[in-house]
Amino acid sequence: MRYEAVIGLELHIQLATASKLFSSSSAAFGAEPNAHVNEIDLGYPGVLPVLNAQAVRFATLFGLAIGAEINPHAFFMRKNYFYPDLPKGYQISQLDDAIIRGGKIVVETAAGVREVRINRGQLEEDAGKSVHDAFSDRTGIDLNRAGVPLIELVSEPDLRSAAEAVAYMRQLHHLVRYLGISDGNMQEGSFRCDANVSIREQGSDGLNPRVELKNINSFRFVEQAINLEIERQSDIMESGGTVEQETRLFDPDRMETRTMRSKEEANDYRYFPDPDLLPLDLAPEWIAEIRQTLPELPQARATRYQESYGLDAEATQFILQTREMADYYDALTAACGDGKLAANWLQGEFARLYNEFGGNVQDIPLSAERFAGLLLRIKDNTISAAAGKKLLPQLWESTETADALIAAQGLQQVNDDSQIAAWVDEVIAAHPQQVAAYRDGQTKMLGFLTGQVLKRSQGQANPKTVNALLQEKLAQ
Ligand code: ADP
Ligand code: MG
Repeated sequence: MRYEAVIGLELHIQLATASKLFSSSSAAFGAEPNAHVNEIDLGYPGVLPVLNAQAVRFATLFGLAIGAEINPHAFFMRKNYFYPDLPKGYQISQLDDAIIRGGKIVVETAAGVREVRINRGQLEEDAGKSVHDAFSDRTGIDLNRAGVPLIELVSEPDLRSAAEAVAYMRQLHHLVRYLGISDGNMQEGSFRCDANVSIREQGSDGLNPRVELKNINSFRFVEQAINLEIERQSDIMESGGTVEQETRLFDPDRMETRTMRSKEEANDYRYFPDPDLLPLDLAPEWIAEIRQTLPELPQARATRYQESYGLDAEATQFILQTREMADYYDALTAACGDGKLAANWLQGEFARLYNEFGGNVQDIPLSAERFAGLLLRIKDNTISAAAGKKLLPQLWESTETADALIAAQGLQQVNDDSQIAAWVDEVIAAHPQQVAAYRDGQTKMLGFLTGQVLKRSQGQANPKTVNALLQEKLAQ
């Protein structure tokens, strides 16, 4: 390819606060239209915004998690424009003096590792929604979303492919959910992005005019929209044309992007500091307090799992699917004393039960401590792994301990060599043909004979001992 893509993303992350950024209206999704609206959201004259402290806490926690600087003197700006879903006639947002400054995200794709610098993270309010009713051919306005808090996270144009853009978005999506600052629900618009795309000759380092793709709310659409746009711009450049700076809309049904507004129609937002709001002066002690609440971050945790327990990428990804799952894994490991064993069992039999359950790990009936009780009995050879597999679903359903279930069902593994030797002798006597074949060099017969001994022991003989004794006796 002669061209390389240059991509910067603007992510909109809806914060999981109970109320809006500057009013006490509920920020919950899904109510009747205009049920969550008050005088402040409606922009009545004379009312004053009151900043939501929880939104500031969330933004600070997030900024610290991405290694950004928390601006001690941030302030809010009015971004003025006219649109029916914006009753005040301006959006309260931030610009260069945003609360989050700098930071970086390291993304990994099949093509390698990429460091993406963050320009800033703005604390701002969302607009309402225009709802078109096809039946009456009329458009209504729903202002439930008007004033809901967002972080707009602006990256530098450091991404070089659609795959990297998706990886970046996925990583941040995971992080905001992990931190608990956003539910990340993409269908409900809690996590969406504008993608800025330009291309340039491979190896050059200038920037060409960019196209902004608006409001994309799925990982698949981001990938498709960016790839389509790279193709469109490449075609233009190849035929000697120039790419115009503009805003385009992605249409997933037609698999195309089309012009929304050109640079000439671009808005002049007449930004100015909002006179109704004080500067957002954050004391260093307050920021330090938030820093104290920062949990161990996903990447640090993955590294710890790999280094302490030798887990592979697949295992760490499974465990880190949510923060609660990782907490469950940590509790399981602490209680059974074996991180590798705990990981194997989580990904194996546990995963099947968990999928069937279909909820969150914090709601499952099996505590990490009771689960660990089972793993301890596998570790000390009281029961076989096979018996453990059989027991796990019962443990999940019941409130008994593993020890109680093992005793009640007589599942203790027989580790007594003389008892196992007797079974081995019986099996050798009962299968002269297979024994002869084995001694003739058909080593696969060992598996058959081991199976026979285990069967005779009703699954209670320790398979390792069986195997060793069989080999010993067959060699005689
Ligand atoms: P503006 O001030 O016009 O909004 P910004 O500098 O804030 O522009 O950039 C907005 C977004 O566009 C950022 O995410 C940035 O990385 C990205 N961007 C800027 N220039 C380019 C370019 N030439 N190609 C691709 N993305 C770009
Ligand atoms: Mg911008």
